[in-house]
Amino acid sequence: METEPLAAAKLDAKPLNVSRKQVDANAVDVVAKLKGAGFQAWLVGGCVRDLLLGARPKDFDVATNATPEQVRGLFRRSRLVGRRFKITHVRYGRDVIEVSTFRKAPSGDLRINGNAKANGLILRDNAYGTLREDAFRRDFTVNALYYDPHEEQILDYVGGLDDIKRQRLRFIGDARQRLREDPVRLLRAIRFQAKLGFGLDAAWADSRMAERLREIPAARLFDEFTKMFLSGYAAKAWHLLEGTPIPGVLFPAVPKGNRLVQLAMENTDRRIANGRPVTPGFLLAVLLWEDFRARAQALRSQHGAANGEDATVLAAQSALADQRRIIAMPRRHSHFIQDVWHLQRHLRSPRPKRVPKLLRETRFRAAYDFLLLCADAGLVEPAIGQWWTDIQTASDEGRDAMINDLNPAARQRGGRGGSRQGGRGKSRQR
Ligand code: ATP
Ligand code: MG
Repeated sequence: METEPLAAAKLDAKPLNVSRKQVDANAVDVVAKLKGAGFQAWLVGGCVRDLLLGARPKDFDVATNATPEQVRGLFRRSRLVGRRFKITHVRYGRDVIEVSTFRKAPSGDLRINGNAKANGLILRDNAYGTLREDAFRRDFTVNALYYDPHEEQILDYVGGLDDIKRQRLRFIGDARQRLREDPVRLLRAIRFQAKLGFGLDAAWADSRMAERLREIPAARLFDEFTKMFLSGYAAKAWHLLEGTPIPGVLFPAVPKGNRLVQLAMENTDRRIANGRPVTPGFLLAVLLWEDFRARAQALRSQHGAANGEDATVLAAQSALADQRRIIAMPRRHSHFIQDVWHLQRHLRSPRPKRVPKLLRETRFRAAYDFLLLCADAGLVEPAIGQWWTDIQTASDEGRDAMINDLNPAARQRGGRGGSRQGGRGKSRQR
């Protein structure tokens, strides 16, 4: 560790263009109540960083020396949550303010007592600490700034203000040690570079470090997956990830430089920018698509075309099971993914009789979006995507005509003959 200054720099927030007015009123209320009860309370982390950057914070987190139970006692509408450590959620209508108690990073002593494995991984980091200790246990300097909305002051123990000014992402302390303590910080380093556009020096993402991500529980990696890819900067994050050995560990089945994946990341960012819903299932469906297809193909050639339907189901299940061991997606996402994959076959070669039913499928919209991405990536003829686009807005007669117009090969194909995945059922309409 570098030498840690004992005192924090205390600065007026006003000249830094941060004012109480930019803070969520509920967060100001939480700080006021805690201080009123004699505790210390500060806004901390991402919200302070984003305010200083002139960006609108996603949410407001509060740090305090009150224990979770004490916080719970002060706010009627609050509850304790958290798997790794206890935090308190204070509820205001639909808004939730997260309150966490100052914690310290386990020191050498604690490690010897079994809080970390021999390789430095922290197993338990829930020892309470002082404000100062709380600052130093955080990951990056820009994430360790505290703001008091009443005094309108900012507290900086780690040089975070300077790093914000210089657009620099810097680990607090020794980068390698901080990564050894918690390899997820590798992903966080990527995430904040993507989100903030800040540079990180130090050669940190080597393959040994990436391998250590295997020690992280798959459920935690799913949380990181959603933060990384569903926050509006997925394309940038994926690009950065591709320059590291990390995809080989987290997504061993995803081919490098895959165009479909790239397009899906960009599409996800666009949807978020436009306020449209996004789901991790869609991205996982894209990431595992090639793997699924290859497995289905292998099974089909092993067992013959007669079992085409079975091969697809088995291939989907095995591809998902293997990925779930690394990133534990909840079951509902697996179902979603299988539905989207399954529907591709029918969308790519529509059989006239099935078209009306397909249009009513719950997952039609997602499967159609997937099909359009495949068309953009050159995996499907654009005409088939256009056909599905047109039929959704066609009049009843128009729709019948379009269905009648499907090429004869598609109309005659029935039963399992239709299980091929090529873009065969293309329309002559456009
Ligand atoms: P965002 O606005 O994108 O959510 P954030 O900085 O709030 O960014 P969170 O993941 O919400 O990121 O974490 C909140 C704060 O908790 C961080 O700013 C950081 O100070 C601290 N933190 C979170 N995860 C870690 C970690 N693995 N190691 C050390 N500190 C962490
Ligand atoms: Mg946050």
